[in-house]
Amino acid sequence: MPNAIIALGANLGEPIEALKAAVVDLEGTDGVAVKSVSPFYTTSPVESSGPDYVNAVALVETTLTPMALLKVCQNIELAHGRVRPQGVINAPRTLDLDVIDYEGVISDDPVLTLPHPRMHERLFVLVPLADICPEWQMKNGQSIEETIKKVKKMHPDQKIFTLSSKSMA
Ligand code: ADP
Ligand code: MG
Repeated sequence: MPNAIIALGANLGEPIEALKAAVVDLEGTDGVAVKSVSPFYTTSPVESSGPDYVNAVALVETTLTPMALLKVCQNIELAHGRVRPQGVINAPRTLDLDVIDYEGVISDDPVLTLPHPRMHERLFVLVPLADICPEWQMKNGQSIEETIKKVKKMHPDQKIFTLSSKSMA
């Protein structure tokens, strides 16, 4: 069965609860099995605004097509109150689920670009991904650890902290 990586994020409402609910929803979706979920992180908004984000990454196995998996993600976002204010890019959100990778498929379709076109410059994706898939290789062949080092150097403004296990309980 193909493996896919989904990045979860939220910074409005109850972000921790929203991420937990999204994982439950993914688990409850026909054709999707959640294999692992990273620890939750709190991160400063990157090219966005509002309160700090809570972010995590999930590894799933799926029989769905990449496009069907994206639809599942978008429906889960909607079920948790996601609104997309017109004309506002990277608006604060109650829940965001992005498909980071689908079995190494490469696609430049704007509806579903794979791997996710900005993952390599976002610590909030790379750091939790390294927790659950340390052997992961970037599209350019670089290791995830090398990429994290580079991004930390280039973007010292990107803050990321582990959420205490207490707040996840
Ligand atoms: P953000 O880019 O901040 O996550 P949205 O969640 O509103 O913003 O997504 C904007 C558009 O990005 C969606 O309409 C979706 O079709 C498109 N998109 C392209 N590639 C991907 C991907 N890999 N994962 C999720 N959405 C994607
Ligand atoms: Mg999104």
